[in-house]
Amino acid sequence: MKNITILGATGSIGDSTLSVVALHADKFSVFALSANTNWQKMQTLCEKFQPKIVVMSDQATAQQLSKVIDKNIQVLHGSEALNTIAAHDDTDFVMAAIVGAAGMASSLSAAKAGKRLMLANKESLVLAGDLMMQAVRDNGAELIPVDSEHSAIFQCLQSGKSGLNKIQLTASGGPFLHTPLNDLKSITPDEACAHPNWSMGRKISVDSATMMNKGLEVIEAHYLFNLPAENIDVIMHPQSIVHSSVYYNDGSTLSQLGNPDMRTVISYAMSYPDRVDSGVAALDLTQNSPLEFYPPDLEKFKCLQLAFDALKQGGNAMGTLNAANEIAVAHFLNNKIDFLEIPNIIEKTLNAIENISITSLESVIANDKLARKIALEAVQHYA
Ligand code: NAD
Ligand code: MG
Repeated sequence: MKNITILGATGSIGDSTLSVVALHADKFSVFALSANTNWQKMQTLCEKFQPKIVVMSDQATAQQLSKVIDKNIQVLHGSEALNTIAAHDDTDFVMAAIVGAAGMASSLSAAKAGKRLMLANKESLVLAGDLMMQAVRDNGAELIPVDSEHSAIFQCLQSGKSGLNKIQLTASGGPFLHTPLNDLKSITPDEACAHPNWSMGRKISVDSATMMNKGLEVIEAHYLFNLPAENIDVIMHPQSIVHSSVYYNDGSTLSQLGNPDMRTVISYAMSYPDRVDSGVAALDLTQNSPLEFYPPDLEKFKCLQLAFDALKQGGNAMGTLNAANEIAVAHFLNNKIDFLEIPNIIEKTLNAIENISITSLESVIANDKLARKIALEAVQHYA
């Protein structure tokens, strides 16, 4: 029996993880759950999964929750408590599924405690990739990607990296793959969040529409697979059936395919190196013909180019990119700025901050704070 902590249990990845847990009550048990402020949903999860500990972001929602759940469940709040459940002796696996930089510290705690870290929170690697990978190595943690592209590459690389030429991340292109650039100015948040293939939280949905999601994933892949930007490629594939590919020097290319459903990725992270039923239907290729592939349009999807540039710059540039993106996306979702201003705000922020190396968690946090401040100033300019 493996005990699991799910950070960000009330979100889209949280839902999918709990549905896999529910399929395999003989193999997995919920040790702890966390959520931001949705105590009503957490109440339902507590009734169904009976965790030992629950963490909410603030005291008020933690108190609300305590009043309505079983008294045996301990309710904590705040970011230190997230670190506690991520590193707790009684948990084996940690699903890191908080959205944004808010998930970084708890991902790092799980790595430092030598857990199996099932990493959905790609922002952790974008902000603090070197520190995360060091913590994984130093503490014997197992880092299993929970991102469809990275899980695909992880699966394709099971036979090793010998003769590896490049990895190729597939990108659906989101809802605007075929929308002309000029028509993107007046896009609403709901239009941006209407992803054709995947059902996800709103922040990553906007990231998919701008293709910043793919940019963050290029950086994520750089750290996970220890490859330079030159060996990481992106290709548009609107059907989201081929989840990614690895190319070898002998002319061989391996890809992983499946229906676009994160339960496949999550169940693999939970059962690796074995496989268990995920509840996802078998792929029927005849229902998905033809599979299409195109090169990405880096002028239309400027965010992807910005992410490649930040990776090549290195140091704090990737954290700056992430912070500015979080600020810009939040303001777009609140109808404060136009869709096409998102890359402009990120670019302005990157240009305003000196490129320095990142050597400690303190420097990650300081840079994140500075980048958010500058990005907010850029937002005021457009709002
Ligand atoms: P979501 O918005 O549906 O859920 C986010 C979760 O984090 C919720 O439980 C929420 O309560 C919690 N949360 C939000 N802000 C918080 C804060 N400040 N402090 C503590 N907790 C907070 O997001 P999601 O789609 O489940 O994505 C989660 C992560 O997984 C993201 O990093 C995303 O990039 C990554 N991811 C998601 C998918 C997907 O299919 N949804 C696929 C690949 C990777
Ligand atoms: Mg992905």
